[in-house]
Amino acid sequence: MIKIASLKSRNLSFYRTTHHFKNYGEVSTTDQFWGYYEWAKANKTKIYILGNGSNTLFAKKEVKSLVLKNNFPKETKILSKSQLQVSSSVLVMDILRYCYENSLGSFYYLASVPATIGGALAMNAGGGKPENISIYDFVENVTFFDAEENTIKTLNKTEIVKGYRNTIFTGFTSKLILSAKFNFPPQEIDGNPILERRQWSKKFQDHSSYNCGSVFKECDFNILNRLKSLQINNSSFSSKTTNWILNNSQSSWPILLLIKIAQILHFLKSKKAILEVIKVE
Ligand SMILES: Cc1cc2nc3c(=O)[nH]c(=O)nc-3n(C[C@H](O)[C@H](O)[C@H](O)COP(=O)(O)OP(=O)(O)OC[C@H]3O[C@@H](n4cnc5c(N)ncnc54)[C@H](O)[C@@H]3O)c2cc1C
Repeated sequence: MIKIASLKSRNLSFYRTTHHFKNYGEVSTTDQFWGYYEWAKANKTKIYILGNGSNTLFAKKEVKSLVLKNNFPKETKILSKSQLQVSSSVLVMDILRYCYENSLGSFYYLASVPATIGGALAMNAGGGKPENISIYDFVENVTFFDAEENTIKTLNKTEIVKGYRNTIFTGFTSKLILSAKFNFPPQEIDGNPILERRQWSKKFQDHSSYNCGSVFKECDFNILNRLKSLQINNSSFSSKTTNWILNNSQSSWPILLLIKIAQILHFLKSKKAILEVIKVE
């Protein structure tokens, strides 16, 4: 059964802005998702699947999209010591802990990312562009429910990944990631890569207020360096980390204005500025 309610909350995005969600639901079965899809179609409303909200920017005071929180059970099936089937609601950190405890190679650099597996797969989460590493280095396949066709499908990496932070699932979609099969190679591990990544993050990333990590996936760092510390209301570009907005405002308009300023400067210099955070209205 589907249940769509209105909700006022500041907890659905890591920017912690407060919004009135006109159409909010939770999803824990494929039948339910199909029901939501039919409702969205009948009501000409877009569906936004929410993982942990660590890359999500709600843009309006009243959010009209159908926001569906992934409430599927958190399940990790151990197929063999180095092969796992993981449901999309599991946190990336939980998988990293398993890999570390079992001496397996993994995407330890995502230990600084507060993501669900579903969100990380939808975003092709990974290292910076020059590093060319992502969660998909360990993915054998991804299983998802395609509501348009009312069917469950399984695809491999080459059929899913479209580019840097871009997959067939990124943004508004009627394809709900259910689980993924991962292969983690046995590896001798020196030290504690989870702790090391967290220490790195503390040193170089700004956690002094609410944020969604990097704002743009493609941008000119010279321009963004010049915007460091620029503050509007209670939101600002970080003085510590380039391409990083810190927020303490209730509303998202100061964040949107900071983004707009960066975009205008890119336009004036004929440079590309492509958002990494997903804007949801
Ligand atoms: C401190 C910090 C550090 C970060 N560092 C990094 C980093 O190093 N590398 C990096 O890549 N990102 C980083 N991020 C950004 C963010 O954590 C990632 O994009 C992450 O993958 C988002 O996961 P989420 O579960 O929070 O997804 P959400 O923000 O909830 O959603 C993001 C996208 O995934 C989709 N989605 C979520 N679940 C599903 C599902 N089950 N089926 C289909 N689509 C789904 C959403 O619809 C949306 O399009 C960072 C964020 C923070 C706050």
